[in-house]
Amino acid sequence: MEQIPERVTAGQTLNAHARARLGARAAETARRLTGQGIVAVALTWVDISGITRTKTVPVERLEHAAAWGVGMSPVFDVFLLDDSIVSGRHIGGPVGDLRLHPDLDRLVPMAALPGWAHAPAHRYAQDGTVHPLDTRAVLRRETDRLAGHGWSVKAAFEIEWAVSNKNGSNKNEANKNGSEGEGDGFFPACRGPAYGMTRVTELAGYLRDVLTALRETGVTVVQLHPEYAAGQYEVSVAAEDPIGAADTAVVVRETIRAVSMEHGLAASFSPKVEADSVGNGAHVHLSLWRANADGPSNAMAGGDGPCGMTAAGEAFTAGILHRLPALLAVGAPTVASYLRLIPSHWAGAFACWGLENREAALRFVTGADGERATAANVEVKCVDAAANPYLLLAALLAAGRDGLDADRGLPEPVGVDPAGFAADERAARGIDPLPSSLAESVAAFEADTVLRDALGEAVTDTVSAVRRGEIDLLDGATPQRVAAVTRWRH
Ligand code: GLU
Ligand code: MG
Repeated sequence: MEQIPERVTAGQTLNAHARARLGARAAETARRLTGQGIVAVALTWVDISGITRTKTVPVERLEHAAAWGVGMSPVFDVFLLDDSIVSGRHIGGPVGDLRLHPDLDRLVPMAALPGWAHAPAHRYAQDGTVHPLDTRAVLRRETDRLAGHGWSVKAAFEIEWAVSNKNGSNKNEANKNGSEGEGDGFFPACRGPAYGMTRVTELAGYLRDVLTALRETGVTVVQLHPEYAAGQYEVSVAAEDPIGAADTAVVVRETIRAVSMEHGLAASFSPKVEADSVGNGAHVHLSLWRANADGPSNAMAGGDGPCGMTAAGEAFTAGILHRLPALLAVGAPTVASYLRLIPSHWAGAFACWGLENREAALRFVTGADGERATAANVEVKCVDAAANPYLLLAALLAAGRDGLDADRGLPEPVGVDPAGFAADERAARGIDPLPSSLAESVAAFEADTVLRDALGEAVTDTVSAVRRGEIDLLDGATPQRVAAVTRWRH
């Protein structure tokens, strides 16, 4: 009987034995893919600026790529969102090589890109050790740390995007939108009202194709709806283990992008598509689970803490609340993120939590009576799709773990829009506004030792270098220009 090849997970050193097994397994996968008409496999990683970048192999090279990897320059890790390059203390420069290996467990044929499969990459140095900027491995390390204490996390990203017709017909309209040239502006592809059925009817074929492609790619969509801003929609997907949730966030975006292009449209996932509108968030839903004799139980429900949280659910949530300013350097990573993160735009611009409160950075969701044990979760609202989803989850898990270790408690929940309080009343209630600029969150991040320990020196330093590079890049730019430069990049 054929031996089942050993699995190699993110963060595990590659030795000769593992290489041989990976090669054998990839050969089998390649045969199956060829039978399905797959020609190419895109190996992707999300860089520190939040852009998904790729090296591709023809399917017949998958075996070699799985065993030996595909070369990648470490300089890619210090690219900014406009592809200009900075240098970090640990990373950067034109010299060096690291290896990208397809994660065969997460390789999926992309229904929206016929003939293509997608595989998130493990990243190794040439000696087979894990590269410090492999953000999937960083996330694996955090999930392992929690697992060491008996905890697991389920996570899901909500993806918001805005759909544009590719070219505006009217030059003035293009200028108003901060267009840099033909095709750069944003021209909403539908006119219906927020959450309006009209918006579905206008683009029904497109939305149907998005749903079909996601289903055929193995993504479990739980909801799709028109959002508030012009041309904006959202899909939510089922919760998974953290690495799975981040991989899914990447696949969902590329699927939506591809279906949009197929329909002659363009999808923007930018935090702020237009300078004066509501932005795109990529809210993260998290629940914390404990393995028990009678099955896993959700620490966000069934306890006697606030809103039914257990003590652990409360401590985990409080750990995240406590570090939000620093977490934003990872979760709201662009200059444009702070055009989005403003009060009374449902982006969660205040460091507080509340039950079903869309103006709190942390919205607690219990679900309906009867389904709380599975449904209860905390939604981190202040983050957006420019974030590297692996790094963001790693940072959130580290903050939650620190909350558990320190047995943190939550302050009183906030049941109103904190923008309605006068500043002194807000301060008296202990509700701080979140950073209003990338520079502020980077300063908080650089001072945060818990995140530095969790993410490692090389990641922390590179995050700072890339963020500071983007701050300099857009220094003095008008909101219109910031929106235009960011609009089509993530
Ligand atoms: N678009 C809003 C944001 O920027 C979120 C809207 C909602 O609550 O879903 O986060
Ligand atoms: Mg939404």
